[in-house]
Amino acid sequence: MADRKSIPTSTQTDLFIQSARRCCICFGLNHDYNVKQGQIAHLDHNPSNNDIDNLAFLCLDHHDNYDSKTKQSKNFTIHEVKSHRQTLYSAVSDFKTQAYSNISKNIQTQTQNVINETDVKSELRNLLYKINPIILERVDEGHKHIDTMISSSKLGVLLELTSEPNFNHYLQILPTGNLILGGTGNQIGNAINDIHEGVLTGYMLIPTDNLKK
Ligand SMILES: [Zn+2]
Repeated sequence: MADRKSIPTSTQTDLFIQSARRCCICFGLNHDYNVKQGQIAHLDHNPSNNDIDNLAFLCLDHHDNYDSKTKQSKNFTIHEVKSHRQTLYSAVSDFKTQAYSNISKNIQTQTQNVINETDVKSELRNLLYKINPIILERVDEGHKHIDTMISSSKLGVLLELTSEPNFNHYLQILPTGNLILGGTGNQIGNAINDIHEGVLTGYMLIPTDNLKK
């Protein structure tokens, strides 16, 4: 006992991290994965052997139990505790891997959503600009609905965009009837160049504030 040296801080830290402050006997016997108030046990009962393989984080009860000199009942053996310790360390490591992988998946999903969301908005604004630049001006001015004519080719792109999950955050579209040339429902005038692109269809666009610049 005279040559007991305190366990180096770096070793203690390694041990706390590997065990995540779970008691390996509680875990090995009862699958009890709760964080415990505990102490570091010297498994060979030699307090100067601070080799990390000789150390285990044990709850107070199990530490008492392990160090007890009572021979009334069979004490835990060193091999038994080391085996439980190995099981615990694997579980802690798996748990961390799983947790990190979940976190990284969540971040990826969130990033993906942000990208998709940005894409839908910018694609939609680009498309509306191509249909007629005045549409975007009206969107940014906060108009609640905008009547316009859309050529069949641009309508195809617009309808593709409507299948994006976030499309409704930006725009609703209602058909107001097919027209070949500008009609009374067309508030902003036809994009006359669109005529060569095929049939022009009348739509009422109902933008949300999210679509604004
Ligand atoms: Zn315990």
